[in-house]
Amino acid sequence: MSLLVVGSVAFDSLRTPYGEAKHILGGAATHFSVTASYFTPVKVVAVVGDDFGEEHLKVFHDRGIDTEGLERAPGKSFRWAAEYSGDMNEARTLDTQLNVFEQFSPKIPAAYRDCDYLFLANIHPKLQLDVRRQLPEARLVAMDTMNFWIKGTPEDLNATLASVHMVTINETEARMLAGCHNLRKAAQAVQKLGPNVVIVKRGEYGVISFHGNSIFSVPAYPLEDVHDPTGAGDSFAGGLMGHLAQTGDLSERNLRRAMVYGSVMASFAVEDFGLRRTARLTRPEIETRFREFKSLTHFDV
Ligand code: AMP
Repeated sequence: MSLLVVGSVAFDSLRTPYGEAKHILGGAATHFSVTASYFTPVKVVAVVGDDFGEEHLKVFHDRGIDTEGLERAPGKSFRWAAEYSGDMNEARTLDTQLNVFEQFSPKIPAAYRDCDYLFLANIHPKLQLDVRRQLPEARLVAMDTMNFWIKGTPEDLNATLASVHMVTINETEARMLAGCHNLRKAAQAVQKLGPNVVIVKRGEYGVISFHGNSIFSVPAYPLEDVHDPTGAGDSFAGGLMGHLAQTGDLSERNLRRAMVYGSVMASFAVEDFGLRRTARLTRPEIETRFREFKSLTHFDV
């Protein structure tokens, strides 16, 4: 089953206690599509500028990602600079330059219209809604967002939230969006805005999903070293949506497995800067870590 993603394709400049990387390929749609590509065919809708070269396109093509929907526009690609310190659970944004995204109007190629699975990765909620409306029949529509849009464009964000089945959101941002500190109450408040499934990302503490009245929690894989948390959330979503699209099974049982595949992909993403680890994985490595999650969380009653 094919999976469509819209979101940022960017150049990131990142600083963590483990080092620095300047102008590396990133963006929410990039991290998502690379990780989801291990599960199912992926198509991407985004815009890039003149600074996006053949070597960058090759990263997508090496993973078999369909880039017909990747538009080129005059100007610079989206740029984001951030740093992490302390427990590295939150990025501190130093600079956001929307550049070519400012004028972007997503056009869905005809060959993309029958995609059943849609992920609206982090980008202006108006663009997310625009794409969602062009795929009214999609079986599962999920979205992500961040503080930049929660603070900056709350009305647009609410309209997009009302149109989706599922949302993945950071813990701090879930609290900000709901205006309430208790996570369970915050998730219920977000469910009332539209999505029946609310997945809260808690960095090194893992993820917790609220699906109707059912709650499920997965820890983060206990790594010795986290080099760069950038893209963890999008890689989580890539594994989650990739597994759901691959199996076509939207049951609660399978959503739980998808939460674990998401956690597996996020754990690989943070082992190195940018896409260094996630662009070079193998399916057996993914399955081995998936089984490690089973032993990590299994107990007898
Ligand atoms: P995360 O998975 O949350 O770590 O997402 C990191 C990615 O989001 C980076 O590669 C950035 O390029 C991208 N990003 C950061 N800020 C924004 C924004 N305001 N809109 C869209 N994408 C962003």
